[in-house]
Amino acid sequence: MTGKQKKMLIRILASAVLLAAGLLLPAAEGIRSALIIAAYAVVGWDVVWKAVRNILRGQVFDENFLMAVATIGAFCLREFPEAAEVMLFYQIGELFQSYAVGRSRRSITELMDIRPDSANIERDGLLEQVDPEEVAVGDIIVVKAGEKIPLDGVVVEGNSSVNTAALTGESLPREVSAGSEVISGCINQSGLLRIQVQKGFEESTVSKILELVETSSSKKAHAEHFITKFARYYTPAVVIGAALLAMVPPLLLGESWSVWVQRALTFLVISCPCALVISIPLSFFGGIGGASRHGILVKGGNYLEALARTETVVFDKTGTLTRGTFQVTAVHPEEYSREDLLELAALAEQFSDHPISRSLRGAYGKELDPSRVSGVKEISGHGICAQIDGREVCAGNGKLMDQAGASWHPCHRTGTTVHLAVDGRYEGHIVISDEIKPDAAEAIASLKRQGVRKTVMLTGDSKRVGESTAAALGIDEAHTELLPDGKVEQVERLLGQKASPKGQLVFVGDGINDAPVLSRADIGIAMGGLGSDAAIEAADIVLMDDQPSRLALAIRISKQTLRIVKQNIAFSLGVKGLVLLLGAMGLASMQAAIFADVGVMVLAVLNASRTLRVGKN
Ligand code: ADP
Ligand code: MG
Repeated sequence: MTGKQKKMLIRILASAVLLAAGLLLPAAEGIRSALIIAAYAVVGWDVVWKAVRNILRGQVFDENFLMAVATIGAFCLREFPEAAEVMLFYQIGELFQSYAVGRSRRSITELMDIRPDSANIERDGLLEQVDPEEVAVGDIIVVKAGEKIPLDGVVVEGNSSVNTAALTGESLPREVSAGSEVISGCINQSGLLRIQVQKGFEESTVSKILELVETSSSKKAHAEHFITKFARYYTPAVVIGAALLAMVPPLLLGESWSVWVQRALTFLVISCPCALVISIPLSFFGGIGGASRHGILVKGGNYLEALARTETVVFDKTGTLTRGTFQVTAVHPEEYSREDLLELAALAEQFSDHPISRSLRGAYGKELDPSRVSGVKEISGHGICAQIDGREVCAGNGKLMDQAGASWHPCHRTGTTVHLAVDGRYEGHIVISDEIKPDAAEAIASLKRQGVRKTVMLTGDSKRVGESTAAALGIDEAHTELLPDGKVEQVERLLGQKASPKGQLVFVGDGINDAPVLSRADIGIAMGGLGSDAAIEAADIVLMDDQPSRLALAIRISKQTLRIVKQNIAFSLGVKGLVLLLGAMGLASMQAAIFADVGVMVLAVLNASRTLRVGKN
């Protein structure tokens, strides 16, 4: 409990004692009334004060106003115990609510307990503990067994297994050794690691994730907007209703004023919309927290809500459905030796992050001299051209060869083919093949089971490779040999073909040159591990462990969260409506009304906090 909550608890207890004394003590009427007024003042002064302050600011209709009017009205009718009891119940409800909200927020921050406290830097052979923010790019940090890796970097010495569960939800530890990339927020489980830092703290994976989770509540779901709007019209409507209820029967039918004013006040108490106002944002917050436990980072309640209506899923191929690590299966030079052709390709691809480039560098395996390469041009969907030892080398697909004016020929082997031209002369090709991710076929199947109408694959790769991958995975539609703007065109065409206007088009990519498509789709999803920073920024949802099957899980979490939200709306409005009716007919007392209100709120908040555990089954 926070200090504020403790103070509130003390006020509630003090007020309860005063109220009990006022009700039970065999004292004079005046003393008992004074005790009850004191009980009211102790517990309710801030509500009345807030109501007055809001009226002065011109924001009249909120729950403080409703409670203040109802209880002061009860005093005017000389119903002292009633006024004090209603205020007491109301404050008990508020306390519970702030406690429950605080608790779910805390459990999310605990889930996200990835912020490193310190980093060990080696200076003159001695270890020094510093703030992770003080570590510069290029510094060597030492991470002992059991410690959190504070910054993103590359292992330069040591072997260990790292636990990435907090970031990716993946429970199997990953083996790392010299040369492996590691990301901040993981736990180093066994050995001592020396890591060369590659990104400053602000740029590191942990900072990005924490920022994302912290800002996610600012992007509100429709259901949340609905509640805000609802409260704006609802409260004034209720106040007008209460005024009519108080005046019409006595004026027109000559009924007793005190009975009808009393009913009107009860009506006001019941109308307080706090259960909805609180439980719906809490549900979305919990759903986002629950998803992050599985390595699914959702950037706002609106995306979590929209995901449940997914109609079409469009996938990028390389790095999304396939691993993006290619094996060289053949090297077919014209005149060069195989080794020289591979070296030329690796040199040209030296500075690129494209999965093909990484794989070719890996296949070549030897040190590359960066000073031999200059004037690198990466052409999306084509390949790369660069000056190597003074000659113009192009490495890429047939389209690039056409541009370079080289007379190329296709290879008889299946696989992605990287052709090479030197000074416009064709020098042969390297055939590489990628592997489909182990969970990709299951991911497509489970999307179908979730009711996704159509799955589509877009790729810049050749027709043969693209179509065989799509067929192996059971994807409905495949479009191949696309340039990045061709992908955008396809997505626009698919956006125009929706079966229902509310259906959502989801695009999933690894982020290498698909940031434009990510932002064009209704919901853009990026693979977080391999993906580029630009894609993670353009995306609405990030899958930290790069598994396509996480998408199906994300949709399931979205549906579960929405189910809980709908339950809360139906339940709170249902009970409210019933008690309002009873109150208007004089069948519910003011105490019963506030009791129902607090009860509904408690149940709604408890139900909302179930979203923290969504996706767990
Ligand atoms: P995908 O749509 O499958 O993610 P890309 O759009 O990244 O593929 O690339 C499409 C095609 O362009 C590749 O299959 C390859 O033929 C060629 N290409 C792109 N970048 C490179 C590169 N760095 N080196 C060689 N070829 C490349
Ligand atoms: Mg790609």
